[in-house]
Amino acid sequence: MRIGIYPGSFDPLTLGHWDIIMRSAKLVDKLIIGVLNNSEKRPLFSAEERVNMLREITSEYENIEVEMFDGLLVEFVDLKSVDVIIRGLRAISDFEYELQIAQINHKMNPRVETIFLTASVNYSYLSSSIVKEVAQYGGDIHDLVPEQFVDRIYKKFEINKNANK
Ligand code: ADP
Repeated sequence: MRIGIYPGSFDPLTLGHWDIIMRSAKLVDKLIIGVLNNSEKRPLFSAEERVNMLREITSEYENIEVEMFDGLLVEFVDLKSVDVIIRGLRAISDFEYELQIAQINHKMNPRVETIFLTASVNYSYLSSSIVKEVAQYGGDIHDLVPEQFVDRIYKKFEINKNANK
């Protein structure tokens, strides 16, 4: 059985992440979405909230699991017998960082390969930071994140969209 992990912060999950999740779930027998517990970075959603949101949205997909991790990804990868790390590439700006991370991970754990899926054209501009930037000023995020999370994101910024209507 080939096991893949798609690690990230997912703070919050965007439609770009979701696109990579759906595409990579077809490439492996089991996909683990690894949610980075990065509390020192003061995320918008706690790691527990992010795990719960991802579990909620993937509940109907039997080959997708959601797990929280901290520390070194390569150690978590061994713990879960992962064969392949999946990352998304949006633009040249992602490349240098991703290349370094993939190379150091491979050096630390030569058993594991990293594969990259190119972002879909529709989402290549999209990042969690952009979503937070737009949402904090009450901008429209409906085309950027899964519908069921829109209100939860506005709520974090204490924005009540219904009151503006
Ligand atoms: P990290 O903090 O590890 O960068 P992110 O949650 O920002 O975590 O991203 C996780 C992965 O998803 C990264 O490989 C990133 O390049 C990729 N990714 C982020 N946004 C998109 C997108 N719009 N399309 C494709 N891949 C994306």
